[in-house]
Amino acid sequence: MRILLMGPPGAGKGTQAEKLTEILNIPHISTGDMFRKAIKDQTDLGKQAKSFMDKGELVPDEVTVGIVKDRIKEEDCKNGFLLDGFPRTVVQANALGKMLEDLGIKLDSVINVEVPYKDLIGRLTGRRICRSCGATYHMIFNPPKGEGVCDKCGGELYQRDDDTEETAKNRLLVYEKQTAPLLEYYNNTGLLVNINGNQLMEEVLAEILKVLGK
Ligand code: ADP
Ligand code: AMP
Repeated sequence: MRILLMGPPGAGKGTQAEKLTEILNIPHISTGDMFRKAIKDQTDLGKQAKSFMDKGELVPDEVTVGIVKDRIKEEDCKNGFLLDGFPRTVVQANALGKMLEDLGIKLDSVINVEVPYKDLIGRLTGRRICRSCGATYHMIFNPPKGEGVCDKCGGELYQRDDDTEETAKNRLLVYEKQTAPLLEYYNNTGLLVNINGNQLMEEVLAEILKVLGK
């Protein structure tokens, strides 16, 4: 299956993607994760992306489109993939359309996870991530069993640099301006399905699986 997971920062895309990729046995392609890895590895891509990410702005389209283009051509994407955090602009959506056309493939579903604006800042500032396996936690809604330690692998939990209140607020503004218009774009393709993201994580997952016919 080829799925797009959409929704504002903090909606729960990464959380759902962790489960969905396991259940559906398809790779999770998160442009945010790809950029964070590049920053950690101090690559040129990381250097290009960092200044934008630190401000909560989008990395330029040509950079972002380039990494996705390379990634979806890889062998493990032959039977499908789950795109999380891409596309985020109309330019990226058009570029994705062209990439899929060139590969002779089509999207199966565009899932939009909806969460009220007032809940998003708290979700972002309370988020913690495992440095080793990337698992996502929340200080209140999904706390680890041991403070600062990943339940799954024992790795150290950290807070993303862009999960401060100030940067999170800008990311939500950027989302409204540049990414929200894509909902109309995908609604016009007939592929868009809205999911209530303001319920327990298991309930969100069940709703998505139902939409996917799984
Ligand atoms: P996104 O990838 O869309 O930015 P995440 O999956 O990282 O969002 O989730 C943001 C934060 O909200 C994380 O700390 C996560 O644990 C928490 N979270 C995810 N889904 C839910 C939910 N259904 N209810 C409460 N908190 C949630
Ligand atoms: P995320 O992990 O999806 O929350 O993304 C974190 C940050 O990475 C964003 O605030 C952007 O700076 C950058 N980023 C991730 N995906 C994209 C994208 N598709 N286009 C532009 N920038 C992106």
